[in-house]
Amino acid sequence: MRIDLHTHSRASDGTDSPSGLVRAAADAGLDVLAITDHDTAAGWAEASAAAAEVGVELVPGMEISTRHHGRSVHLLAYLPDPTYGPLTEQLGQVLRGRGSRVPVMIERLRGLGIDITADDVRRASDGTAAPGRPHVADALVSLGVVADRDAAFATYLGWGKPAHIDRYAIPLVDALRLVAEAGGAAVVAHPWGRGGLGRPDEDTLGELQEVGLAGIEVDHQDHDAEARDRLRAIARNLSLVVTGSSDYHGDGKTDHELGCNTTEPDEYSRLLELAREASRRSGRVTPAVVG
Ligand code: AMP
Ligand code: ZN
Ligand code: FE
Ligand code: FE
Repeated sequence: MRIDLHTHSRASDGTDSPSGLVRAAADAGLDVLAITDHDTAAGWAEASAAAAEVGVELVPGMEISTRHHGRSVHLLAYLPDPTYGPLTEQLGQVLRGRGSRVPVMIERLRGLGIDITADDVRRASDGTAAPGRPHVADALVSLGVVADRDAAFATYLGWGKPAHIDRYAIPLVDALRLVAEAGGAAVVAHPWGRGGLGRPDEDTLGELQEVGLAGIEVDHQDHDAEARDRLRAIARNLSLVVTGSSDYHGDGKTDHELGCNTTEPDEYSRLLELAREASRRSGRVTPAVVG
């Protein structure tokens, strides 16, 4: 069983359509795939239809933009009810923040003498529900300003660079509560990765577990072998679920091929069980795993 629980489509900043993502997963020999676009369930329906066709088990999820003690934290939410009002209200606020930030980034870039327009970015973000820096990066690539997304982040869009603009993110503890209320299970994405929680220790992760955290994404390309060993030990001590995943973005991110990290079947079963428990407790109608 090959299980990849963190991937992106064009519904956010991946480069494959949701159905293309599912077909690519089948081609890569994956048995289970979670679609986890940033802050949106917009890709679920198309991905689910494709999964039923190609025989991949699809887990509907999303990667929620949150903030904790001033730091950006990505929270993977599996199988939440996407119609739960308080959650959609908060996600709406994130998406509106994403949208209103784009013109500001364009202004900054124009101020640097780059002839980029709103149309350039619109073309690059066609089909997305969650416009972001990667789409601005793609526009800069099409204009010939930079060679690739990485260069755009390194020169203009990354933290501390001239066109970096902050945006709204949901307070982490609120996001954990909302995911639980929506009947889903939450896993902190790449916790020791770049721009993450700032290497949260066992005490911090234990506190987050008390307010609903189900697991830790241990096997991720942002974590070296030592970080993975130490996170795995913390997860074992706390009985947190351990996941591994690619964080695939299609052509948008190198060295994140589908299945480059995977989740153990036992850990996947525990995650599904925690989602079922949350679903029962919430009394909400949560999405089913497809396939
Ligand atoms: P945003 O959500 O708009 O703030 O943009 C963050 C997204 O950009 C995340 O999905 C990251 O995976 C992606 N990202 C961050 N740094 C880079 C980079 N150097 N190259 C490509 N994508 C990146
Ligand atoms: Zn992304
Ligand atoms: Fe992330
Ligand atoms: Fe991601």
